[in-house]
Order: sequence, then C-alpha cells, then structure tokens
Amino acid sequence: MFVTVHAAAATIIGKKISNSALAFVLSLISHFILDLIPHGDESLGKKFLGIKIKNKEDFRILALYGSIDTCLLAIFLIFLFKNFSFATNDHVVWAIIGGILPDVLVAFYKITNLKLLKPIADIHGRNHSWLIRKFKTDIPLNYGVILQIILMSLIVWLIYIV
Ligand SMILES: [Zn+2]
Repeated sequence: MFVTVHAAAATIIGKKISNSALAFVLSLISHFILDLIPHGDESLGKKFLGIKIKNKEDFRILALYGSIDTCLLAIFLIFLFKNFSFATNDHVVWAIIGGILPDVLVAFYKITNLKLLKPIADIHGRNHSWLIRKFKTDIPLNYGVILQIILMSLIVWLIYIV
C-alpha cells in the first residue's frame, strides 16, 4: 500500500492517542492491518504506468513506484502541517513514523541487502500477501490504485472529523 495511506491512517491514530510510544506502536500495527487489504501490487506480469512488471525485484518499477509514493507523501505532509495545528504534536509525528517505518525498513533492505533487516522484510512480505495467498487471487493493479485513492480520500475526511 502507498506509504501515504499509512501516514494518513497514522495521523488519525496520532490525533486520538496523546502518548507518543502508544501512538507509535498502534500505527506500526495499523501498517500491517492496512497491508493485508489486497491492493494489486503483489503479482508478476502486471503493468504499472504502462511498464510491464517482469520481475518483482525489478528496480525500475520499485524506483518508479517509490518515487511517486515519496512525492505523494511529501504533498500529504505539507497539506497536513499547513492545515492542522495538531500535526506538530510529538505523538502525531511518532504515529506517522510508526505508520511508515515498515516500508522504509523494507526499502532499505531491498537496496542494501542488510541481513539485520531480513526478518522484518520477510514478516512484512508474508503479511502483505497473506490474504492473496489464502484466496489465490489478487486484484488488478489499476483497481488497487483506485482503491487506495478512495481509501486515502476517506482517511483525509476522517482527519477532519475525528
Ligand atoms: Zn507495507
């Protein structure tokens, strides 16, 4: 799932939980729950912005997906810090760090192959594909992106009202 969606969900947790450590842990857990939702980026042979994914470890795709994701995260964070005074609270910042940390560590592992991070990457990968393996099907990537846009809109709306 886009790291932006994780950051947005973590923002809600940070808004409601004023203990930084608890907000961090709950956001970390929320990351794994959100990743369970099939969102189309699991299978091989799919297309992302017209580029066919031949190999899951294809760094062109990872770089493209990661770059778009990072830009969206930057836009979201600017939107958040410009519009909501609560966003600068420590517990909100720690919640966001907890919400995005698994993907940051996995990306770091994919780039560096650092052995220390392998267990985290394995757990993340198994969790990410758990429902897809269980039902032996994934949704098309385009639908996955649409699903995440809808989810993101819903979460941003929740940031206003909770
Ligand atoms: Zn993840």
